[in-house]
Amino acid sequence: MQHFNLIIDKRQVKYLLQKKPAPPNLKVQLKLHKIGIPIQPVINNRTALAYKLAKYLTNILSQHITLHNQYVITNSTNLAHDLSKLELHENHSLITFDIKDLYVNISVSETLNIVIAKLLQNNDSQIAQQVLILLKEILSQNYFTFQQGIYQPEQGIAMGSPISSIIAEIFLQNFEDTHIKHLLDTRNLAFYTRYIDDILIIYDTTRISSYTINSYINNIHRNIKLNPTYEQHRSIDFLDLTVTCKHKKLEVDIYRKPTCTDTTINFLSNHPIEQKMAAFRFHITRMHSLPLNPDEKQKEWKTIQHTAKNNNFPHCLLQKLNHQIQNKVNHTHNKKKHKIWTTFTYHSPKIRRIKNLFKNTNIGIAFKATATLQQILIPTTRIQTSPHEKSRIYKITCKTCHKAYVGQTNRNLNLRIQEHVRYIKNNDPRSAYAAHILNCRHEYGNITETMTLLKQINRPSLLLPYEQMYIYRFSIETITSSRNNVRMNTIPCSNFSSTHLTYQLDTNQYFRPSVSPLSTCILYGCL
Ligand SMILES: [Zn+2]
Repeated sequence: MQHFNLIIDKRQVKYLLQKKPAPPNLKVQLKLHKIGIPIQPVINNRTALAYKLAKYLTNILSQHITLHNQYVITNSTNLAHDLSKLELHENHSLITFDIKDLYVNISVSETLNIVIAKLLQNNDSQIAQQVLILLKEILSQNYFTFQQGIYQPEQGIAMGSPISSIIAEIFLQNFEDTHIKHLLDTRNLAFYTRYIDDILIIYDTTRISSYTINSYINNIHRNIKLNPTYEQHRSIDFLDLTVTCKHKKLEVDIYRKPTCTDTTINFLSNHPIEQKMAAFRFHITRMHSLPLNPDEKQKEWKTIQHTAKNNNFPHCLLQKLNHQIQNKVNHTHNKKKHKIWTTFTYHSPKIRRIKNLFKNTNIGIAFKATATLQQILIPTTRIQTSPHEKSRIYKITCKTCHKAYVGQTNRNLNLRIQEHVRYIKNNDPRSAYAAHILNCRHEYGNITETMTLLKQINRPSLLLPYEQMYIYRFSIETITSSRNNVRMNTIPCSNFSSTHLTYQLDTNQYFRPSVSPLSTCILYGCL
């Protein structure tokens, strides 16, 4: 990376390296709304060796290459407003195209030629050279794992890679400039727009037929194939809109796919309220921002209310949200503060108190829900790490007094308990467990009698939070049980507390003694 000194700052190199690279993994989703139920391949590229570098290069490319974005729309609301301004006559007709498997059919060599031409337009040749070499390298790293094998597609750009969208955009805009522009200039096409791989065309039937457009557009490039959809009763579905020709004007209505259900996150579910309201916020905002006629707007409002009712949302809440959004849409020029966002795991509404501490700062807190249906129902197909690499939280109990010690390790549990036993036998109070057994002259047991695996953890960064959580959980159980005079067997030993929260660093891991109930109380009292 040092060879790319013109585009990569020396100090940034360490941030562009992937610390624990793993080959990208392919997952499959079913497209239930399509005939024959084809699959939708999804590749998680986050772990790829060049992921961070690809992200960085995407930025470099967008700085050094100017894309005119003349035929591109950013969202369906903007499109709806554009369409409602158009004047049509009775010979105008609508057609949509959907580019088949865009990413896998993009020719890398052709795109590289376009990129170099564009780079040389307004950059130094040395910079262009460095960008190109890096780009070639990143685009060549197109592979993924599926089940036990590693695969490399014969052509195309990597799915899921952050650089692919800009590469596709460069290729398609060049495609449009060379092959579509003249059709618009000669007025054969009245209107052309594209959203990623979906194209909407309005053409003049007296000048060109839908058949001619279809065969022309499908013969431009040997790889790029487009599936046409023709208008029916002067109406066509595009993105989430139904576009209809009416009295020389285009009217838009909201289109919902046939697979669309009225299920949202249930109001009674333990999710943060923001996430529960998000679907309705989206629907209501869309209802207000699209140029719908009053009847359609009323119809949409009824649909939204119906969905809300089916998911146990109180009517007043929806009404309030509607008023809020209506006011916001009318005064769109709200000042937006620049915020740094971070995620918290949401377990109960109590966590909101922590969020409130950040209220007047520029730190935004988003919640991540756990135990969602998706997480519970979909089997994880992660790459199997060897059992020795796995990190885990475990608990060892004292055989005599049943007090418990919570610890973490990234090694085999058997080895870990042998270690504790060795400390005891050598009269070495190095671990809190050994110290307890030795000080109290209590009895220790073997792995089946005393050791329990509490949690397997795949992300090392979560080890500490989980360990703290278990320690906290056991101490809470103790507090409640002592109040109710019920004897629990998991009692954090008060003897361990003398060293609570002092982290003793040993060979390659941390030993963390349990926190006593009292100190836990104080520690977590602020929650
Ligand atoms: Zn004991």
